[in-house]
Amino acid sequence: QTVLFRSTLDQNKYTPVAGLPELRELIAVESRAFYGLHWIEAANVVVTAGAKPALFASLQVLINPGDEVILPIPAWSTTYHPLIELAGGKVIEVPLTEDYDLDPAAIAHKISPRTKAIIINSPQNPTGTVFSAKVMRELAALLKGKDITVISDDPYNKLIYQDDFTPPAKCGFDRLVIVNCFSKSQALTGWRIGYLIADLNVAQAVNSLLSHVTANAAVPSQYAGIEAMKRHDRPPQSTLDALKRQRQVVIDGISNIPGLKCNNPGGGFYLFLDLRDITDDSAAWCERLLVEAGVALVPGEAFSAPGFARLTYTSDVPTLQAALKQIQAFVIKEGK
Ligand code: PLP
Repeated sequence: QTVLFRSTLDQNKYTPVAGLPELRELIAVESRAFYGLHWIEAANVVVTAGAKPALFASLQVLINPGDEVILPIPAWSTTYHPLIELAGGKVIEVPLTEDYDLDPAAIAHKISPRTKAIIINSPQNPTGTVFSAKVMRELAALLKGKDITVISDDPYNKLIYQDDFTPPAKCGFDRLVIVNCFSKSQALTGWRIGYLIADLNVAQAVNSLLSHVTANAAVPSQYAGIEAMKRHDRPPQSTLDALKRQRQVVIDGISNIPGLKCNNPGGGFYLFLDLRDITDDSAAWCERLLVEAGVALVPGEAFSAPGFARLTYTSDVPTLQAALKQIQAFVIKEGK
């Protein structure tokens, strides 16, 4: 394997804030094809230290104090809420449908003159759901002519198990910021490397902001991003096959536990457990499960969805089977 990083090649220095030209160009070429958006050029791309700074910077740039940001829930509230509030914005939560799809009518009901952005995340954290193209197009039609930007937070969009995945960015939103990273697709969480794609005004404002915060993303991580983009940011097929197998093991295991229900998500590596038949306090239930059975789930409270819990199925099959057994024993014990 070639050594990617050598001081003699001048690679120990600052890069432009928005990233190495080669990486920005590769991201632009790949994203133009993936999203079918002809306007994406390298100038629209800002490379960041992961998706989080990209979300932070876009909200800082788009939101003025008092503006409202619509958040379909369950959502990754533990991070979205503080990021919106740090920008002076107000979070307006709108429930997803029963099967965790977007609900354009419910969103329409919450749009006000202060609404500036909507955060969409598909496949979703915490449910793993993939939003349907039909409802996203309905939402795009609803937003036509309005000064409301859709922030499409896309870290899981290379981890897809169902056939009919349409990225939100393909659904006709006029005002759009795409946020993505290599954290999930390439399992590079610790390398802190991601990017956003936006119109030139937003991209340049983000660039100015980040020049005073992180400046450029770490150079070795940018080179990792270049290598990832050369293989179209695809995870190895063996990783996708393993995740699909693990998802099925968990779905089968949960179906054998009385009182527990879960969804069958189309992507990502989470699924959402419905605990409402077995407890009226999901946070306390998850705490007891952790202490007494040694299994960690994240309670729905973290996702604006009390009564539920998020299960991550990235562990190998024997570990997941052991955890399912422990959950089953715990549920039976609590039921007594
Ligand atoms: N967006 C969503 C929906 C996530 O679930 C995560 C990580 O869990 C991120 C963004 C953050 O990605 P990064 O680690 O690249 O900052």
